[in-house]
Amino acid sequence: MINEEVVKSLLEETKNRTIVAATKYGNEVDILNLVSLGIKDIGENRVKVFLEKYELLHDADIVWHFIGHLQSKKVKMMINKIDYLHSLDRLSLAEQIQEHRSLPLSCFIEVNISNESTKYGLPIEEVVSFYKKMRNYDKINIVGLMGMATHTDDEAIIRHQFSKLTELKSEINSLADKPIEYLSIGMSNDYKIALDFEATHLRIGSILFRKEE
Ligand SMILES: *Cc1c(COP(=O)(O)O)cnc(C)c1O
Repeated sequence: MINEEVVKSLLEETKNRTIVAATKYGNEVDILNLVSLGIKDIGENRVKVFLEKYELLHDADIVWHFIGHLQSKKVKMMINKIDYLHSLDRLSLAEQIQEHRSLPLSCFIEVNISNESTKYGLPIEEVVSFYKKMRNYDKINIVGLMGMATHTDDEAIIRHQFSKLTELKSEINSLADKPIEYLSIGMSNDYKIALDFEATHLRIGSILFRKEE
């Protein structure tokens, strides 16, 4: 169940940014409820669940984001159904997208800003050269960078990690190439901090939903 009060105050608080609702905690009724409240950017992180929801909702006014780790072997079955990919993090994935996507896909490069080995994403040092390589893939349009900060109550750590992504974006944009516009940072526990770091896309999940009684 969607917590409508939270959605309304979030929309007020995050004007000019895009809330991508991470809907892994909800079903298709919840998604339609979000759309009616004004959140039409919907993010799924599992291919199977995405395909099930897409099947039911592809006629609705929804912008589909894939935000989770994407296995190369699953690209073919879903890549032409999404509008944005937030988790481009390796060449082998780019190859699969180039092969199977019909129209250019707007992609965020996922960067491992927390440096935790369990997290996905390119190491910071590799991002600029990866970005340059992506110019050769005409089915991939790099629109931004995505990162996930360490889950912690220590704001200083989160700020430090977000700032790395803001810096990386300026570095890429100083290469005088086509500038990238977007930063996909901020989740339920740290989106307020992300607002200070040029976040354009906030991927917010758990706080949108009511806890089951
Ligand atoms: C679930 C998820 C989110 C949102 O997380 P919350 O803490 O529930 O807001 C953001 N990004 C990705 C990739 C997710 O899987």
